[in-house]
Amino acid sequence: MLNYPMPVLDEAELAAAAAGLAESEIRLLSGTVVDPAGVIRAKHVPTVRARAFHVAGVGASPSWNVFCIDNAIAFRPGFGVVGDLRLRADLAALHVLGDGLAWAPAEMFDQDGDPVPVCTRGLLRRTQAELAGRGLTALVGAELELVVPEQVGRPWNAYGLGPVLDVEPFVLDLVDMCTAVGLPLEQVHAEYGVGQVEFSLSPTDPLTAADNVVLARLLAGRVARRHGLTTSFSPQPFAGGAGNGAHQHLSLFRDGVPLLSGGRGPHGLTPEGEAVIAGIVAGLPELLGVFAGSVLSTHRLQPGRWSGAYACWGLENREAAVRLCAATSGNPHGASVELKCIDPSANPYLATAAFLGLAADGVSRGAALPPEVTVDPAGLTGAGAAVRLPVDQAAALAALDASPLAERLLGTEIRTALSAVRHHELDTYGEEDVAVLAERFRFTWSS
Ligand code: GLU
Ligand code: MG
Repeated sequence: MLNYPMPVLDEAELAAAAAGLAESEIRLLSGTVVDPAGVIRAKHVPTVRARAFHVAGVGASPSWNVFCIDNAIAFRPGFGVVGDLRLRADLAALHVLGDGLAWAPAEMFDQDGDPVPVCTRGLLRRTQAELAGRGLTALVGAELELVVPEQVGRPWNAYGLGPVLDVEPFVLDLVDMCTAVGLPLEQVHAEYGVGQVEFSLSPTDPLTAADNVVLARLLAGRVARRHGLTTSFSPQPFAGGAGNGAHQHLSLFRDGVPLLSGGRGPHGLTPEGEAVIAGIVAGLPELLGVFAGSVLSTHRLQPGRWSGAYACWGLENREAAVRLCAATSGNPHGASVELKCIDPSANPYLATAAFLGLAADGVSRGAALPPEVTVDPAGLTGAGAAVRLPVDQAAALAALDASPLAERLLGTEIRTALSAVRHHELDTYGEEDVAVLAERFRFTWSS
């Protein structure tokens, strides 16, 4: 399972990376990991230590994997105060951010330099490689919704022009920063929620897509600070109304040929494309704890919020958790399935790995496509009623804990750590009022 380790740069590549950092007058390299609770954590080294950060790594306690959203530690066997992990920066994904700072995603290793199964970026790397081993490649595009709390209480038109002009200096600087660092930005708009702005990213390979989510949140936080603003990536930054989603679009190809278009099935699906959608829809209730597992997640995941509260699929159906976007001339990236139930409290590496894993599971089983939902699923009743995803965190975690599929897709270590931190949330805050929770954890998933 662990035989796809992060590549180590050779001497020439290391020298080129060092020269690039020196030339851009970089003073600090930040290396990030995202923990199972979805919080971005980091270690930083002065530029001269970039090589060491990549080759030997820097230390982190195994308990990093069971840090909770309130900074409690949900100790479990193997995740305690004894032992040491090495965080190694992946300099193949190094980005010079300017003004002294560079960033690279990091992965977790043991002290002998071997990958550890609890590393979520390592899991996604392996999932992507295993897919490739079966002749499948994937493209993933992420959407980032964020709320600027300073704008809440001001006039707001959903999808309006004015709201973006209100935060224009922030938006323009963020666009400039994305361009400068090579982060492929697709679109910006004012979302439905008050103070809510969306940035969507172009599709890339899955590992890069998850890295891009982390990088985009870093840039958003860095640029916002320069304008005296803050950014909330909480699933429910304020009680009531629209929450923040972290939707992902997935396209799959066999030997370069799309699975979600060009076939004879509904809307051009190929037989394997049908199985992809079937696998995702079938596994969603069990895996919701990965996609939307925090104590705030099910407050967002409500019918009528376009957050995908039902385990069903439909062409351009914004109330279905799985929205098919067909390959039309208006969709130059080709067909994709959008998983709408993902929220920003999900670790993007885990969410992407689970999304790919469900799709691959459908293909391996030759799963049969369930009937399409062509209306708002909330209105379906009786025998044709759509499957509502777990309605609270307790139900989502119970389904995850009981799922052999989750065990297979995530591995014991990640599942143990994820379950530990989410159960801490449930036990400590499960009865708390949403307004109190929203305020307390408004900036937990920001950087
Ligand atoms: N804000 C909605 C969510 O929580 C999504 C709105 C949309 O982009 O369709 O997922
Ligand atoms: Mg949106």
